[in-house]
Amino acid sequence: MFLTCLDLEGVLIPEIWINLAVKTGIEELNLTTRDIPDYDELMNHRIGICRKNQIRIDDIHEVVKNMNPLEGAVDFLSWLKEGSEVVILSDTFREFAQPMMSQLNHPTLFCHNIHIDSDRQISGYQLRLQDQKRHAVRSFINLNFKVTAVGDSYNDLTMLEEADHAVLFRPPDQLIKEKPEYPRVKTHEELKKHLQNVFSSMIES
Ligand SMILES: [Mg+2]
Repeated sequence: MFLTCLDLEGVLIPEIWINLAVKTGIEELNLTTRDIPDYDELMNHRIGICRKNQIRIDDIHEVVKNMNPLEGAVDFLSWLKEGSEVVILSDTFREFAQPMMSQLNHPTLFCHNIHIDSDRQISGYQLRLQDQKRHAVRSFINLNFKVTAVGDSYNDLTMLEEADHAVLFRPPDQLIKEKPEYPRVKTHEELKKHLQNVFSSMIES
């Protein structure tokens, strides 16, 4: 039985924080896990900037409501679900991602939670589980699934390491240099063809 773990931002949908940076004009919000691999450091940085600029959860909802999945992502996901169980493992927050989930036809999503104060500003966040991407993949393998993981950035490395097969989707140049061993694809069509081959070879082995 196949199970495919997909990252969300950068694989199926655009980066929420980058879109927020564009909408608010706050350049510092452009930093992502690609720039600051330490997630806690990155999140505290983002929360500080949001509070300084009095950005509310409603502003973030407005941004996400106006976003679309990456081109080809919806068709890819619906193809993938026919041949594999699919779980999205993301470091985003449920409160942010919710408006996008209906556009993706409500896939299974494991992610974190954000804390909102009485002014509707972000006051903190709660990880669902420390290093959940690694633990999830390891657990699925223990449940006798053949696991393929697809990610685009540094926060995906632990799930890529644990998976039976790992693929990078449009990774940054620096990550390609650091992890040349992982196959990489640029489009969902390319990813589909790659996974068809992976699943075929898993059946044969
Ligand atoms: Mg990503």
